[in-house]
Amino acid sequence: MRTLLPVLLISILCTTPAFAQEHPSSAAPSNLSWMTDSMVKLHLELVAKYGDAQRDRIGRGLHQVMEHWRPEDGDAAVFEDVVRTNFAGDQATLDTMFNRFEDLLEQLSGHMHEINRAFRQQADLDLGPILPFDQIFAGYDPSAHVLDDFFENKLAFVVLLNFPLTTLHERLTEGPKWTRRQWAEARLAQAFSKRIPADVNLAIAQAASQADQYISQYNIWMYHLVDDKGQRLFPPKLRLLSHWNLRDEIKADYSDKQNGLAKQSTIQQVMERIVTQTIPQAVVDNPSVDWNPFTNDVKPAAEKDTDNPAPADKKISNAPEPSTRYQKLLKTFQASKKADPYSPTAPTLIDRRFDEDREIPEKRVEEMLVQVLSSPLVPKVAKLIQLRLGRPLEPFDIWYDGFLPRGVYPQAELDAIVSKRYPTPEAYQKDIPNILVKLGFSLEKAQYLANHIIVDPARGSGHAMGAEMRSEKAHLRTRVEKTGMNYKGFNIAVHEMGHNVEQTFSLNEVDHTLLAGVPNTAFTEALAMLLQGHDLEVLGLSSPDEKSEAFRTLNDFWSTYEIGGVALVDMAVWHWMYDHPGSTPTQLRDATVQIAKDIWNRYYAPVFGKKDVVLLGIYSHMIHSFLYVPDYPIGHLIGFQIEKHMKKTGKVGDEFERIAKEGRVTPDMWMINATGKPVGAEALLEATERALAKVQEK
Ligand SMILES: [Zn+2]
Repeated sequence: MRTLLPVLLISILCTTPAFAQEHPSSAAPSNLSWMTDSMVKLHLELVAKYGDAQRDRIGRGLHQVMEHWRPEDGDAAVFEDVVRTNFAGDQATLDTMFNRFEDLLEQLSGHMHEINRAFRQQADLDLGPILPFDQIFAGYDPSAHVLDDFFENKLAFVVLLNFPLTTLHERLTEGPKWTRRQWAEARLAQAFSKRIPADVNLAIAQAASQADQYISQYNIWMYHLVDDKGQRLFPPKLRLLSHWNLRDEIKADYSDKQNGLAKQSTIQQVMERIVTQTIPQAVVDNPSVDWNPFTNDVKPAAEKDTDNPAPADKKISNAPEPSTRYQKLLKTFQASKKADPYSPTAPTLIDRRFDEDREIPEKRVEEMLVQVLSSPLVPKVAKLIQLRLGRPLEPFDIWYDGFLPRGVYPQAELDAIVSKRYPTPEAYQKDIPNILVKLGFSLEKAQYLANHIIVDPARGSGHAMGAEMRSEKAHLRTRVEKTGMNYKGFNIAVHEMGHNVEQTFSLNEVDHTLLAGVPNTAFTEALAMLLQGHDLEVLGLSSPDEKSEAFRTLNDFWSTYEIGGVALVDMAVWHWMYDHPGSTPTQLRDATVQIAKDIWNRYYAPVFGKKDVVLLGIYSHMIHSFLYVPDYPIGHLIGFQIEKHMKKTGKVGDEFERIAKEGRVTPDMWMINATGKPVGAEALLEATERALAKVQEK
């Protein structure tokens, strides 16, 4: 995981997932009566003062300030004073202004981040009990009001007056010709490109939190799923959260030779009832009823597996859930829509997701996904799965995970090696240079990186928290048991250290801190997984052989095929909501079900031999994550591209550093610089083709 705290203000707007980045932004066009006169007057005045060469900059700057100015910012006199005082009319002044903003914003963001890290310390680290007030510290965000403050004290207007706002189209078409300084200027201006009123942000946060709450309590009590004969397939107390746990149970059931298939079919039935909202309201998170998901019969529980009293608000009946799932989704849409007028360069949530957060146009994302979904490799891999299962495919086999190789080394053996080597976090800290050398970095670089990484004992499984200013260090949070680190902890630590390495290069070695970081989380994940994949070699053991690698590739291909379809449903549903802004939850339910079926029928039915399946609508992200799902399949594609490139060059250390230093330009520019090609599906498809050949070798 990477810290959600932004690298500079820009990423407050651009990189965090879900609702978190719906921070303040651009104003609705100003219609103040004095504005036109003031602008005409200032334009003439500034051109006379600074010359014709500045004419375009003056016009653009005035327009950008006008677009964001609100009545409460001041009258004509204040507006004119801000412009007159702060327009940098010659290159030397502009350079000074740029450099100072870059330095000071690094300080702001860096110190805010350090406060946040300190405030979260008790919650994040294994340092004894968390007291109630610790939670309040952990939840406090000192940077929450920075953007409002910057508009109020007019620093935001200084930026808008002097540096260009850009559209994604401009960044894509002209960006490759820009200098690095121009890129940094574009990122600087972007930080102030929107000014969304506080009440709109609040409405978005509320809709998000209500959807989160709905999703986080959507449990199915598995022991209470019964068949026609009243038989129970699942053990007592098993409570699965939709959709994550239900999906993972389907995966786990492949190894249950006796009841696996029946369990999987039952879960599929449950999922379909959730999507279509024919699920009885009474069975959601309720162990006091038994439910047959096929007949939809609901009865008082014949057996008890919890001591909690039955929920008072749930009547024993099979009355369906009243489209609550879609009501929550609709609320997130209605709240997001309120921000549209304040976001002139990206006037819908769909635009903001693709043009601002991902910086890959929606049409290109769709094309890449379709390229995977309609690839001739799909039926080939499907056939292989069918062969391995020894039965025709069922719709839930979109979650088939039987390609994943079982480890060659027994868990206990690995745990013993790791715990002996790393009895404490300090032991891992000391060994970082050695680990990095084994991963392909030069001794000098390994030492340099080790000096920039601090290892802390994590409360959870581990995470990486980069610094946001060059005077600070990245933190590697790793879990070390009393008996020492175990293999799972080590494997995660190598992954998180990969993030730290990326964070260190992309902050400390990038030419402009305004460009610190990577284009989006998929890039840092790909780099982290690259190192994680070599963890056995660090322990002096042999890496997975070519055949296991091939199986892993097939597994990734199949998951990309699965999640790619979910992403297309997510995208189509958001378009439907924008096309039908006045719709009811029931209408949205019907539309979603139809969209899920259509996409299934186009890309899955030919392979699975079954039509009208609605499983692609089950992801919880679709309800509470504001069009986040496409990030997952894009992440797979990016991962394969980077991996392929690293295999080709063979110089992991040097290449890692070179590509991490590119910083936060568009994903395509970054990828062209790294590998010679824009973001695309080819690397995954080529690897899959090779993997198929490899596993079929005699
Ligand atoms: Zn990660």
